[in-house]
Amino acid sequence: MGFEFKEELKQLLPDYLELLEEQGKVESRGEGYYVCPFCNSGDKKNYTAAFHIDGTRYNCFACSKHGDIFDLVAHMENLPSDWKKHYNRTLKIMRPCLDGDKPTKSREEYIPEFTIPVDYTEYLYKCHKNVGQTDYFSKRGLSKKTIERFKLGYDSEKNLVTIPYNPNCKGYVDRVLWDGNSKYYKHGNELFNIEVLYEKSLFGNEEYVFITEGQIDAMSFEEIGLSAIGLGGVNEVSKLVQNLNEKPSNKVLVLALDNDKAGRRAIGKFIEELAETELEQEFIVDSGMYKKYKDANEFLIADRDGFIERMKRIAD
Ligand SMILES: [Zn+2]
Repeated sequence: MGFEFKEELKQLLPDYLELLEEQGKVESRGEGYYVCPFCNSGDKKNYTAAFHIDGTRYNCFACSKHGDIFDLVAHMENLPSDWKKHYNRTLKIMRPCLDGDKPTKSREEYIPEFTIPVDYTEYLYKCHKNVGQTDYFSKRGLSKKTIERFKLGYDSEKNLVTIPYNPNCKGYVDRVLWDGNSKYYKHGNELFNIEVLYEKSLFGNEEYVFITEGQIDAMSFEEIGLSAIGLGGVNEVSKLVQNLNEKPSNKVLVLALDNDKAGRRAIGKFIEELAETELEQEFIVDSGMYKKYKDANEFLIADRDGFIERMKRIAD
């Protein structure tokens, strides 16, 4: 069975909140802000509401609950952790909007103009303390040393893992461990492990920095003693170029994005955007580096020795 309305339904998050408002289940605070249906922040007068819509997602600064329309329907309707049920219920509720009975508004007007900086340090340390309660990271081939070094964490209440972008804990990405629709969610947006671009070289292979899409792919390289940064998605190659432009690096970049169409397109985009700068950045592209595997982590899990052998040869 198909989920052909998935994308369309996602766009209807503001309409769903309007509906909830009409039913008296949530209270609007204007400009895409609401009293939080999870933690009730914003329920007093003159008290800033922290729950807001940002495109197809909602996010609460106070309790850090976030998600898309399916997650919100699941919460409001008290559904079990089963995305199919979330989808079906959402489809049932939002059907009239899909049929065009009610025009949807432009998404732009719901994007808030400012964001409130949040200090995640305490939360991330708490999650890190509980990381022993999940085997998720060890199943991804990461050793205790790597888990420790990157302060990876586990939130048992929300059943998700946390990956801080950098040691300052200014932002992180989380990944839900249940069968959700969107698995990853970014809190802030930073290049993962960015400092290796500027580390002084002590040994030969530290001159190379592998550029990967995911944080876990980057850690797969770090796991075997090679330096890597994680972009956090193919769209962030521009951010890397911008970063290099502001602060050049003398490392040789190994473009190690996913072994698929999107990964190859992103490498092309990187090269193109780099050419538009004055930078003399050295880089390597090796299209066969992952062999039959999709990315660094898949390779590491399936054939650790083969992965080490292959990658050390590139960085030699
Ligand atoms: Zn909240």
